[in-house]
Amino acid sequence: MRRLELELERPIPADLVDELSSALPYAAEGAANFHVDPERPAVVRFDVADAAAADTILRKVSRLIDKMTRGWRSLPPKVIADMRSVVPHHDGNTWTEMKDAGIVSEVAPGQVALSGLGLDLFDFFDRTFVRFAMAFGAKRVRYPQMISVEALNRCQYFDSFPHHVTFCTHLREDIDLLAAFSHAQEHGEPFPFARGLHDPEYVGVPAACFHVYLDLSGRDLVSPTVITTSARCFRYEAETMTTLERLWDFTMREIVFVGTEEWVREQRRRSMDEVVQFVKSLRLNGWMEVANDPFFVNTFVARKYYQLLTEAKFELKLSLPYTNGALAAASFNYHEDFFGRSFDVMLDGSPVHTGCTAFGIERWVFAFLSQYGVDRSRWPDVVNAGLAGQIDATGPATVAPRE
Ligand SMILES: [Zn+2]
Repeated sequence: MRRLELELERPIPADLVDELSSALPYAAEGAANFHVDPERPAVVRFDVADAAAADTILRKVSRLIDKMTRGWRSLPPKVIADMRSVVPHHDGNTWTEMKDAGIVSEVAPGQVALSGLGLDLFDFFDRTFVRFAMAFGAKRVRYPQMISVEALNRCQYFDSFPHHVTFCTHLREDIDLLAAFSHAQEHGEPFPFARGLHDPEYVGVPAACFHVYLDLSGRDLVSPTVITTSARCFRYEAETMTTLERLWDFTMREIVFVGTEEWVREQRRRSMDEVVQFVKSLRLNGWMEVANDPFFVNTFVARKYYQLLTEAKFELKLSLPYTNGALAAASFNYHEDFFGRSFDVMLDGSPVHTGCTAFGIERWVFAFLSQYGVDRSRWPDVVNAGLAGQIDATGPATVAPRE
């Protein structure tokens, strides 16, 4: 392992440091532990596994930084609801506390198991958001966990987020190949997956709402419609996968609004009011701001500006006292008629406009526990009352590690 230092022509703008840091791990295989020091923003440090590949890796890292920073102009942050005067009740290390309490375990990178109070809270938040959806007259739908590459191509997903994609495929239909695979697994031998796997036609769904647009494709709606769905979503996040903040496999509940521009904007605004009221009722520290998706390099600067300027996306941030940071727990998106056109969904002779309000359920659990701790007796009554009747009372698992 060798530590490299890359001197940049111009410093990374302060408001891009976080976003750039989360994109850097995708620049090149064999490079890891990226660090941008806010005090010295014209220097990026990282490790390379193979010193001989250093030149190639430096070139790729420079390319990514250049694409993300060229033409960048900072816009002032725009906060539209501020709950940061609330004093959090707790500042302990949530991740350690959850593990010690036996309510979360890390199964693999970016993959967790939730149980006990962790799972009870998860259900509480999801049911709350379903209730919000019902107040909008939403229809509940449960979609498959995979979606076709073709469907995501229709809305140019791979243009912006190729780095997150988790492909689903299978072995080719060939008896010799199948036998060779079984043999290789049994004997711990390598298997040539590149030849053995069928080209992927499906991916793990990266957001819950794509299936809604696909479901409505080619249809003429007679009135605006609201659908709520929850999905296990897959986003590969390289080395930035951590705690419940950034998972490879996580749960998203969405309320999807399909109608005219004015109607969709109005529903989104109502859903934002509803969520801010909920955060206040829980006395959580956080804020709502104009946000953007961390699009990947091809179109980064142009799209990001467009989103910020048109207020296409608002985000609810909840504070994590123990890191002095925050996470995005909900987003409120307006897509104009992009999905209406991509999937040919019409209303009154025009492509529909769409919007979605999305909740990252594991993040709500994590932010809540970060601000309140794992001791239920310190939680707000509204949460404890909401859990009533669903506690499985099993408590932490009674297993001890093997000697
Ligand atoms: Zn969505």
